[in-house]
Amino acid sequence: MILLQNYINGELIAPKSNLYIDNYDPATGNIYSQIPDSDYTDVNNAVEAAEAAFNSWSNTTKDERSRILYKIADLIEANLDRLAAAESMDNGKPLSLAKRVDIPRAAHNFRFYATAIIHYSSESHSMEDKAINFTHRDPVGVAGCISPWNLPLYLFSWKIAPALAVGNCVVAKPSEITPMTAFLLSELCIEAGLPKGVLNIVHGLGPKVGEAIVSHPNVPLISFTGGTQTGKHIARIAAPMFKKLSLELGGKNPTIIFEDCDFERMLNTVIASSFDNQGQICLCGSRIFIEKSLYDKFKTAFVNRVNALKVGDPNDESTNLGAVVSKSHMEKVLSYVTLAQEEGGTVLTGGYQIQLEGRLKDGYYIAPAVIEGLDYTCRTNQEEIFGPIVTITPFSSTEEVLKMANSTKYGLASSVWTSNISKANIVAKKLHAGIVWINCWLLRDLRTPFGGVKQSGVGREGGNEALQFFTEPKNVCIQYQ
Ligand code: NDP
Repeated sequence: MILLQNYINGELIAPKSNLYIDNYDPATGNIYSQIPDSDYTDVNNAVEAAEAAFNSWSNTTKDERSRILYKIADLIEANLDRLAAAESMDNGKPLSLAKRVDIPRAAHNFRFYATAIIHYSSESHSMEDKAINFTHRDPVGVAGCISPWNLPLYLFSWKIAPALAVGNCVVAKPSEITPMTAFLLSELCIEAGLPKGVLNIVHGLGPKVGEAIVSHPNVPLISFTGGTQTGKHIARIAAPMFKKLSLELGGKNPTIIFEDCDFERMLNTVIASSFDNQGQICLCGSRIFIEKSLYDKFKTAFVNRVNALKVGDPNDESTNLGAVVSKSHMEKVLSYVTLAQEEGGTVLTGGYQIQLEGRLKDGYYIAPAVIEGLDYTCRTNQEEIFGPIVTITPFSSTEEVLKMANSTKYGLASSVWTSNISKANIVAKKLHAGIVWINCWLLRDLRTPFGGVKQSGVGREGGNEALQFFTEPKNVCIQYQ
């Protein structure tokens, strides 16, 4: 049994309560590690360590901060196999995906912000011959970073790297369901020579550890990625305390397919945008709208491709979908298949639990599902399912598909397939979404703003947006005479 520890003030330590929570391997349904069941005392110790480190870290030169972040990125790459195996075991995702996407991207996040601070310049505004303004960008202090289970190290590092790069100290909490790579990261930070207290990682339950971070009076900034309900709860606590708040929340993303698209290219990508990571990526397209004239061709080809996907052992190179993250999540996802049928939908394929053999017999596997015949306003088409379930719906005109696509309370991402650039531009302009991909999906340049509108969140991450969020501007105006 692996016993994880908190990373507080540069040391790996047990929670003060000495209590632990079981951690499951979703591929087998077995408990394989235990994580600290931390509480307010541990969070408070972490905040005190971060406060003590802040003066020194925020005055460390950019070059030195950059050097240490680079070193962390190098160590992540050097440990790629170990980290990918841990991510796959914790989350149930295919090992090949963790190797190809999750872990390289975590290293890239550190390297990106290690470089960004060196090239970052703050604003200056001249008032002709009267005065000059310049703007300091100071780190805020102790940043609280809370992340979800779907892309554990990828999203954890997406917050921590910019926060540290600009000179904040951090108290962070990974999801209690997928804590393993955050624990391994703490070991790598020690090896990289990150000064003690600069990054603190406290493991445990959201309502205990997460909430203790959010409500701590000496944590003036919260960066949160997770569900919309949790985001609302966090906003209620943080708003009256006037904390800086970034919320990256849920989605119900549309995929819009016009008849004039490049069919094969679209099909290959839409399979990925529907089912990569078992459909558990906030950017996955779960509502697929197809122009009526293409509907039957798409339906046949898509269902055939879905039937060919292999659900299996995450360690097997040929596996397309591994296990979903937990038993309760599997039950939630499958309950939407029942709901879809009650709402009049027809399940064209999948939508049931798959029982594998041998050591995998108790794992949480779902056959990827395609459902048609639903009204765009029904719950299945409005609520986030966050699993390998998509609906397909025909449309007759651009106006109609925009109405359906924009009908949810969410507005995170979207993808549009057409070879008509004018149509693509019009649809991109009118979609309620923070991100629009045209003839592609998940193509990410880390300099671009990342985030959603409506109940998909508040604020943006990525590039300069993150550098600005994790700093406080102070304008200085100097009159010439
Ligand atoms: P949750 O909102 O349940 O949890 C997210 C994090 O918040 C976890 O670390 C969780 O801890 C913690 N948490 C839970 N309750 C509280 C609380 N009261 N106070 C503070 N922290 C708390 O989301 P999931 O982990 O289930 O992740 C899936 C969701 O994340 C989906 O809705 C998905 O769309 C969204 N997401 C959004 C992204 C975006 O960029 N917009 C990207 C990826 C995912 P614990 O795990 O211990 O409960």
